[in-house]
Amino acid sequence: MLRTIKVPIALTLVSAVVITSILAMWLTIKEHERLYTASVEQDLNVLTANLADELSGVLVSSVPPTEQLRQELATLASYQHILEARVYNSAGELIYEQGRAEYNTSVPLSDLLTQSPATFSMDDKLIATRHIINDDTKVGYLMIVNDVETPVSNSWQTLMLHVLPFVAVALLLTIAVALVLLDRWLTPLSKLSAFTQRLSYSKDYTQRFDARSANEVGQLAAHINTLLDAIEAELTINQEQNQTLIEQQQTMTHLANFDSLTSLPNRQFVMDNLRLELARAKRLEKDIALLFFDLDGFKGINDSLGHEIGDLILIEVAERVTTMLRDGDLVARLGGDEFIIVPDRDVTDVSLKNLANRVIDAFRDPFHFRGLALTVGVSIGIAKASEASFELSQLMSNADLAMYRSKAKGRGIYTIFTNEMVESHKRKLSIANSIDQGLAENEFVLYYQPKVAKDGTLVGFEALIRWHHSEFGMINPAEFIPIAEQSGRISAITKWVIERVSAELPLLQSIFTYKFRVAINLSGHDLRHLGLFDMIHSIFTEQQVNPEYIEFEVTESAYLENFAFANKFFRRLSNMGCAIALDDFGTGYSSLSYLTQITIDTLKIDRQFVRELETSERSRLVTNSIIDLAKRLSLTICAEGIECVSQWEYLLDHGCDHVQGYLFSKPIPLEDVAALPERFTFPGRTSSYDNSVQ
Ligand code: C2E
Ligand code: MG
Ligand code: MG
Repeated sequence: MLRTIKVPIALTLVSAVVITSILAMWLTIKEHERLYTASVEQDLNVLTANLADELSGVLVSSVPPTEQLRQELATLASYQHILEARVYNSAGELIYEQGRAEYNTSVPLSDLLTQSPATFSMDDKLIATRHIINDDTKVGYLMIVNDVETPVSNSWQTLMLHVLPFVAVALLLTIAVALVLLDRWLTPLSKLSAFTQRLSYSKDYTQRFDARSANEVGQLAAHINTLLDAIEAELTINQEQNQTLIEQQQTMTHLANFDSLTSLPNRQFVMDNLRLELARAKRLEKDIALLFFDLDGFKGINDSLGHEIGDLILIEVAERVTTMLRDGDLVARLGGDEFIIVPDRDVTDVSLKNLANRVIDAFRDPFHFRGLALTVGVSIGIAKASEASFELSQLMSNADLAMYRSKAKGRGIYTIFTNEMVESHKRKLSIANSIDQGLAENEFVLYYQPKVAKDGTLVGFEALIRWHHSEFGMINPAEFIPIAEQSGRISAITKWVIERVSAELPLLQSIFTYKFRVAINLSGHDLRHLGLFDMIHSIFTEQQVNPEYIEFEVTESAYLENFAFANKFFRRLSNMGCAIALDDFGTGYSSLSYLTQITIDTLKIDRQFVRELETSERSRLVTNSIIDLAKRLSLTICAEGIECVSQWEYLLDHGCDHVQGYLFSKPIPLEDVAALPERFTFPGRTSSYDNSVQ
């Protein structure tokens, strides 16, 4: 009630009306009084004048004619409001007085008489005086006192009695009408107030106030509507900007959590997830496993066939792996060619092995791009959270170790992490850290393994490094070369080998006076070293090495992983007179189309095919095909790992040019080389070559 302005306005209005009415009535009464008094005064003057005329004859005698005066003045009795009448002689002495009993005037006469004729107002009385003239002679004075107060008061009361009801009714009507009008005028304001209140609660700024009038309220409503238009427009802009922001945020979240090439979750996403999952698994005493894998020889594909093909392979890898997983399993790309699978449940060894086999199987079919059929393998490392104390970094490092174990074992396989790997990792670290010291303290030594021609004659040697480690004793290159590669120390070893071969070549040349070649193994990592050719060239120049006595061996995967550099580098070596052999052929790429593009002289059939010659039809097929291919490409073919005569015979029968293996000699120190025969013969040998070459 008090919160509405209607009450104060109504009170002010009513007060104003009442005060105005009272004022009007008071003015009316005053005017009425004035008019009434004026009329009484006029009447009194006339009466006094008439009576003075009539008394003029009466006052001529010297004796006061009291009776006559009484008769003359008796007429005044009929005048209700004449209080007193006095007659004075010309000397101003009162000669007759007539008045009402209840009234006794105290008016001093002398003052009044001098001013006659006159009318005075005194003490609410009207006093009229007049000279009584007879024949132009003043014979006396007449004074009449008339009561004004009583008639005025009576007249006032009568007036009030007649007017007040009308005034009251008019007043009430005015107030009522005013209140009604006030209500009508203020109602739109109340509605507007309710509207704005509704608006602030609902926040629905599409609403508008229906303002029809043009008065202040209408204008206020119109302004509010305009304000709402502006708010709505502003809101629309804000909503659009918000939407854009949300979309940008979603895009950024997607970019931050998903790999743009394969659309798989990325490292960031999987690490965040794994961190939470590991904490949960630890709490619930459950285990989590992860399969960490990378593609075998992916860098070679990128370098030889271009990044576009590399990207296509990564996309298809993501598809192949995703389709073979169960709902809930997570696959993510960690970067490059590294992926991770986190199986949702069932982390027993059996199911993990199954999963790993399924992943490997998924890569059996070649990838077909631009008419090329590329077979890409995977090396998988499997690790469990329980063996990593539910620590993310430990778990990742364990999976990494297991994966590298797979790579070291020959790629295309999986390895489950065991604690022994940590020990071996420590050994690896220790080996890596002692390479420089080993080189400085001459702990390395070169062994030579002869290569034999069809007729058994010695055509060359493969220089194979050995390390007499101060702490671990004799270490094989199969162990320390990969460590040197990973730790970035391989270049130093390669340099040492080239220098050593260069230094020892003269001794070999003095023993074997005919032409032969010493093969030096190069690592894939060497092929990323831009100064390699200059280094070889300067060593050869310095040590006066005839490059025609040297052959370089590089594995096919190392060649292809650094295709662009390798091609140029080997062409320069070839031009210099060195021979180039592709080592361990048949174990890496199955796409053979690149063979026509590279600079090589010899294909070396990997030991694994030779070993299985008698037992595996597939190995025989591969071996025959490689020999056949080499012939077509006019390449020399060399088989390694010959341990028995039958293997040699098989290879001879199928046209293999050179052989190398324990059958002839294990790798031996330089001092033992002189004891090697110039020609290897085997009494039980049945091959026709033995005879034909003699
Ligand atoms: P590789 O270049 O394929 O060398 C042939 C390996 O086969 C040698 O192992 C050799 O001892 C072994 N081998 C040869 N004939 C037979 C046989 O009849 N039976 C068996 N079981 N093995 C045979 P090694 O010397 O242990 O070298 C292993 C690998 O280490 C080499 O494979 C080569 O890749 C690498 N390596 C050796 N020396 C060097 C080197 O100086 N530099 C580089 N970068 N790598 C080297
Ligand atoms: Mg070799
Ligand atoms: Mg080999």
